[in-house]
Amino acid sequence: MLAKQRGASQENAFLQTYHSQLRRRKSVFVKDLVPPSGYYYPNKMGRILLISMEEVMGRNGLNALLNLIDLRDYMQDLPPDNLEREFDFAHISNLNKSLREIYGPRGGRGLALRGGRAIFSRGLRQFGALAGVSDLAFKVLPLKTKLKIGVPAVARIFTQFSDQTSHVEEMDDHFLYTIERCSECWQQTSDRPVCYIAVGILQETLRWVSGGLEFRVDQVACKAMGHEACAFRIDKDPIK
Ligand SMILES: [Zn+2]
Repeated sequence: MLAKQRGASQENAFLQTYHSQLRRRKSVFVKDLVPPSGYYYPNKMGRILLISMEEVMGRNGLNALLNLIDLRDYMQDLPPDNLEREFDFAHISNLNKSLREIYGPRGGRGLALRGGRAIFSRGLRQFGALAGVSDLAFKVLPLKTKLKIGVPAVARIFTQFSDQTSHVEEMDDHFLYTIERCSECWQQTSDRPVCYIAVGILQETLRWVSGGLEFRVDQVACKAMGHEACAFRIDKDPIK
């Protein structure tokens, strides 16, 4: 009994310290939070984003992050599985920014990339079906044609279902994927590109479209750096 009580009080002391640390950290982060933007992802995409981040960070990691960016409500209830545009760009920007602040530039980048890949495989494919691009239609086409259809299809999905407008231009040896209104770097400033979730989404899209190949994707412009838009260079030739 005594041992049990001692255990409980130790646990309480631990929790108190933990929470006061969190509060201190929260006060650091909250003042830097990006305010609501009035631009939205559909709830379904917000839901997929949180499920995917949980997959790569674990439940506790995601909860700590949600706590720091003032989105505690989503610890209990994910956004509903519908297409209403209610998941504010600021949520995505704050999540992306806090990944870097908590895990450092390299750690944050790794998690964002893995999260982006999980977002595609976990759920963005469902939007492919809605946009009229099915897995089956891709199987029979030559690689060049698959890329020509698949890359702009992703841009159309975001433009059609969210306030994140995107378009794709085809160049000789690459595609230039441009996000005019980007949620990931919304209202941020940085001296380097920060939209690694998008890089992960594009990498995984290309893997799906090509039937398992890897492609080089580089962010070549970022609004956070003062550029007009966020832009990604996608090589047409797969990495060997
Ligand atoms: Zn961006």
